[in-house]
Amino acid sequence: CGIIAYVGHQQALPILINGLKRLEYRGYDSAGIAVMNPDLTIYKKKGKVINLEEHALNNKIDSTIGMGHTRWATHGEPCDRNSHPHLSDKKDLAIIHNGIIENYATLKQELQSKGHFFESDTDSEVLIHFIEDIQENLNCSLEDAVRIALTRVTGAYAIVVMSQKNPDLLIAARKSSPLIVGVGKDEFFLASDATPIIEYTKQVVYLKDYEVAVIKNGKLTITDLQNNIHDTYIKELDIELAAIE
Ligand code: GLU
Repeated sequence: CGIIAYVGHQQALPILINGLKRLEYRGYDSAGIAVMNPDLTIYKKKGKVINLEEHALNNKIDSTIGMGHTRWATHGEPCDRNSHPHLSDKKDLAIIHNGIIENYATLKQELQSKGHFFESDTDSEVLIHFIEDIQENLNCSLEDAVRIALTRVTGAYAIVVMSQKNPDLLIAARKSSPLIVGVGKDEFFLASDATPIIEYTKQVVYLKDYEVAVIKNGKLTITDLQNNIHDTYIKELDIELAAIE
C-alpha cells in the first residue's frame, strides 16, 4: 500500500526505512526492501517496519539505490513469502507493486506452462515473471519489456522495477494507484505520496496513468506505454498540502 524508491549518491537504506515509516499511516501488513549490496538483495518481513529495520540492520548494507514497499494483502495471506519485493524466475529482476493485476491467473498459467516457478501467491510476482518472459522472447530492453507487459495487464498498479544487470536503473509506472517522482540534485525518489520525500526535495513530477518513468544514468525520462516521450512537468510541492494529503 506504500512505495518508496531512491537512486543517487546517498545511502538508500535510511531513506527507504524512514520513508516506509512515513507511509505507515496508509495501513499495511508487511514490509520489504530491495538494494544492490552489491547484488540485488531483498529483505522482507511480515509485520511492522521496525521488524524489517532490525532484520536489515543486522546486515551491512552499502547501496545508493533501492526500493521499499508496505503491503496490504489482496492476493495471498500476509506472510514473509508473499511480502514484496518479488523476484523474476531468473532472480535478476525485482518488483514492488501496489494495486491488483486482475488477469494474473491467466498469465500465471501461461508462464507456469513455460516452466516458471512461483514462490508466492501474489498477483504481483506474476507481473515481474511476465516482464522477464517478454524481455527474453523479444530480446528487447527492460524498459520496453515493462511497457509491453503493461499493455497486456488489466487492473491497477504503481510499480517499481530494479535489475541486477542494470544496477543504477529504476523503472516505475502507474495506473489508478498513485506514484510521484521526486527530483533532487543528482538523485531521484519515487513514492506513493509526498510524505517520505519532502525532507529531501520539493521538486516533484506527478506521474499520470499509463506513464512510465525511467531513471537511468542520473536522467529521468517519462514515456507512455507506446514509448512516446512525454514532457516532464516538475512542480514545486506545497508543504502544507503535502502534510494533509
Ligand atoms: N496485490 C498485491 C498483493 O497482494 C499488492 C497489494 C498492495 O497494494 O499492497 O501482494
